[in-house]
Amino acid sequence: MRASAKKTRILTDSAAAAAYDSDCHRCARLAEFLGRVRSEHPSYFCRPVPPFGAADAALIIVGLAPGMHGANASGRPFTGDHAGILLYETLHAYGFASQPTGARPDDGLALIGARITNAVKCLPPGNKPAPAEIRACNDYLAADLARLPPAGAILALGRVAHDATLRALGRPPSACVFAHGARHALAGGAALFDSYHCSRYNTNTRRLTPSMFHMVIAAIARHLGRPVPAHAT
Ligand code: URA
Repeated sequence: MRASAKKTRILTDSAAAAAYDSDCHRCARLAEFLGRVRSEHPSYFCRPVPPFGAADAALIIVGLAPGMHGANASGRPFTGDHAGILLYETLHAYGFASQPTGARPDDGLALIGARITNAVKCLPPGNKPAPAEIRACNDYLAADLARLPPAGAILALGRVAHDATLRALGRPPSACVFAHGARHALAGGAALFDSYHCSRYNTNTRRLTPSMFHMVIAAIARHLGRPVPAHAT
């Protein structure tokens, strides 16, 4: 990397010291829960789910945590989860994914200039990580975000992901408030974009519609100087 580019990253590479650990047992409650789920579903991945996509992608998408029968089973974020349906369909519509579906880890899906990670890498009971678990996992997220190129984009899916992202960036929660469709300026020309989470609940209740989500991804594509297909908005 050129020295000038290194200066403008939003975090230093020192955060990479806490890069993904497939044997992490920092959270006793989550480790115990994963153990129980593993014995009920021996074929499931049941480990901290690693990020998906190239480490230096210009777009990093931050979800909440793996879903029980989706990412926790497949080992790939949003893969097999209902929330992955709108996410992968939309990423494909804007050229960030090679295909519109991501149902299995061997489905050939590739992300194009995008990477997906979660605020919490392990499956939480009831899809609700405890605040202490979000904090314990935060330096893994900081390591994911440290590789964002200058002028890159982060998409936070929901308030928990937004707050975890700010913490990982070393910014106070008051630095920017979560709001669907908001764009917050970060160091080095990067930006944090917010969207409601594309969960089953939010899409079924139409709190998040496909067109609302498309508008957020279109804004990200524009920020990154990527073409925005006319048919996609
Ligand atoms: N699956 C994930 O990997 N993350 C989410 O936030 C939801 C489902």
